[in-house]
Amino acid sequence: MSGLRPSTSYGALVLNATYEPMCVVSVRRAAVLVLAAKATAVSDGDGFLHSARRVLPTPCVVRLTRYVRVPYRAHIGMTRRAIFARDRGVCAYCDGPAETIDHVLPRSRGGPHAWENVVAACARCNHRKGDRTPAEMGWRLRTAPVAPTGPAWRVLGHRTPDPRWASWLGLPAQRTDPLRLGEATA
Ligand SMILES: [Zn+2]
Repeated sequence: MSGLRPSTSYGALVLNATYEPMCVVSVRRAAVLVLAAKATAVSDGDGFLHSARRVLPTPCVVRLTRYVRVPYRAHIGMTRRAIFARDRGVCAYCDGPAETIDHVLPRSRGGPHAWENVVAACARCNHRKGDRTPAEMGWRLRTAPVAPTGPAWRVLGHRTPDPRWASWLGLPAQRTDPLRLGEATA
């Protein structure tokens, strides 16, 4: 395996068997896991790794074949600050600067005040949307809102995440600054 030459400095995201993000390892380490059948490639990065006997696409995201129990799980309270941090202060509907919190399914229609139903929104979109759903407006959410569970922050630390990890970490695509996400834990 000494011939493995990673073409990216991001490393590889390791998912548990349940697809929960666990950690980031070097692409070489991820390749070893794949070659040992301890993990399967979920998403390939750029280029290839060359071992003595195999050529392997550079792993970007790998998933463990067996579940590993992770005892620690951080809970992040659903504060306005945390919601803005999760959504990077960007409106879920128009990508503009967000100033408000919107309930995707309006509370007046039974929408819960939960991570999965709140997004940062600009005042204009929030006002236009009113008591309607995005579908009724002909709008689409860029990503499904999810709770920024511990793993995303714990996994990343101060790393700059590969944008291709975003969907696995519950981060909005291409808006993956871990320092900003970290503010959600403050
Ligand atoms: Zn907007």
